[in-house]
Amino acid sequence: MRILPVPVLQDNYSWLVVDEADRTAAVVDCAEVAPVLEAARAEGVRVTAVLSTHHHFDHVGGNEELALATPVRVYGNADDASRIPALTDGVRAGDRVHLGGSVAEVIFIPAHTSGHIAYHFPRERVVFTGDTLFVAGCGRLFEGDPGQMMSSLGRLAALPDDTRVYCGHEYTVRNLEFAATLEPGNRAIADKLAWARSCRAEGRPTVPTTLASERATNPFLRWSSPELRASVRERCPEAGDDDLEIFACTRRLKDSF
Ligand code: ZN
Ligand code: FE
Repeated sequence: MRILPVPVLQDNYSWLVVDEADRTAAVVDCAEVAPVLEAARAEGVRVTAVLSTHHHFDHVGGNEELALATPVRVYGNADDASRIPALTDGVRAGDRVHLGGSVAEVIFIPAHTSGHIAYHFPRERVVFTGDTLFVAGCGRLFEGDPGQMMSSLGRLAALPDDTRVYCGHEYTVRNLEFAATLEPGNRAIADKLAWARSCRAEGRPTVPTTLASERATNPFLRWSSPELRASVRERCPEAGDDDLEIFACTRRLKDSF
């Protein structure tokens, strides 16, 4: 399995997941059709499936057009069927999606939207997290509360350390700038910020990340860090000292960063 970034819209990534044995590909989050088909053509593969993580336009905006252009299965949350265009295969937590020789398991991770799902390939140690887990960040809470986001992120964080995380946006530099305000003493954050800036200066994606790297740098997985807790409580004096309140305040601080 090879995974290629397809930059679309302003700062979104569609991901082309290539099965080299049968020369087919799946696209994770198809916002725009032309760049995806162009990437597939360049690879010499046929797009046969779409894996949608959630219903936002910048993730499913190309579903209908792609389905008209070429025969594809469109996977997405069965319980969000009315909002996933061209859906053919509704899936739920624990369901498996077979793509050539690879198998993805569906993980339910609501909060950014109420129907958000991730696709986890346990054998390849890869997970597609849409707008829930970003590099050094997490999605905004449009249809869920902090507790729900915390448990969704917990489901992802339970995956093995070396799992590669592919998310839906290039937000890394800004996210790490925010992370550095809460943990100025965290060397892993400073190092990754310098690295991310040089990637972007050269036009390279900062995605994927790994769960190990996220545990070391992502403020939304680091509510147990004493430095982060002290910074958050200084800025949100009303916050108590429990994990959920620290997490919720971290999210609020990021909203206005
Ligand atoms: Zn979204
Ligand atoms: Fe998005």
